Amino acid sequence: MSFAGIVGQEVAVTTLRRALSAGRVHHAYRFEGPRGVGKHLAALSLAQALLCPSGGEGCGACDACKRVVTVASSEPHVPQHPDVLMVELGLYDAETLGRKSDETRDISVAQIRKVVLARMPFQPHEGRARVVIVRDAHLLNVQAANALLKTLEEPPARTHFVLTTPRPDDLLDTIRSRTLRVRFGPLGDGALTELLLRRGITGDQAARAVALAGGSAEAALAAVDQDEASDEAAFVEAAEAAVVAPDSTAVMKLADVKVARDVFRARLLALAREQARRCRAAADARAAEALAARYSIVVDALDVLDRNPAQPLLLESVLLRMRAV
Ligand SMILES: [Zn+2]
Repeated sequence: MSFAGIVGQEVAVTTLRRALSAGRVHHAYRFEGPRGVGKHLAALSLAQALLCPSGGEGCGACDACKRVVTVASSEPHVPQHPDVLMVELGLYDAETLGRKSDETRDISVAQIRKVVLARMPFQPHEGRARVVIVRDAHLLNVQAANALLKTLEEPPARTHFVLTTPRPDDLLDTIRSRTLRVRFGPLGDGALTELLLRRGITGDQAARAVALAGGSAEAALAAVDQDEASDEAAFVEAAEAAVVAPDSTAVMKLADVKVARDVFRARLLALAREQARRCRAAADARAAEALAARYSIVVDALDVLDRNPAQPLLLESVLLRMRAV
């Protein structure tokens, strides 16, 4: 990842690249634009550029660059690089922040104190710089915003802030006046399609999702998820009908449809889930037992799926065995 991975935001990316090559990276940016268009990605790319030992735009491949974009596997799920400080609603639990309860509605002053202010007296861990990313900065409550103000105005040396927000009007004027705006626009259909194709989503599905997305990658991905969910629901319905049909014609027909492996896996998972759900809801022990047996058949198939290239045969055998229960 790096600036090259950001699709469809030429103006914003050019602004940041120019600042980097001139050695004039501002100490506090405000990335404005709709959800899911690359603001966070751009903030991380800027962090890579500032923290990469080889300088320039950041190589995207070294240990430092990788740790900027790799999130800790345990809580809090923050970048592994110690010089990238993340502020985000609900990112830290109450105990970490010394609060009585978790944040739910807004970013608390406790988070600003703990994550940002407490670190400012110290040098960056690895020397080059330190980047504070405040995600969805409009969610800072008034106290938190005020606590941040002085540091935003006069940050310690080599410290850079990036505030991202889809709702800049909800920021305090004082925060807005202390940050330099970089605008991110809605994505064009071409850029969105490219993003989806890069994620391995098929052309047809990408086209349907882009039509519903209104220029937001987040909305496009949600549309893909929904599309997949309704596809899975349709498959589960067809499979269950085939299992109880008077003959096996429907089984053969269903088994004949070849789909991508991960789609097939998702369909089998949905079928297993539905058997489990109905088993738990079953009225009597005999029905529950039959559903449990059908559930096991599907789960067994999921187990062998990676070793078994013949998808139609596998599905046929699953459905025939489910019929026999
Ligand atoms: Zn690097």
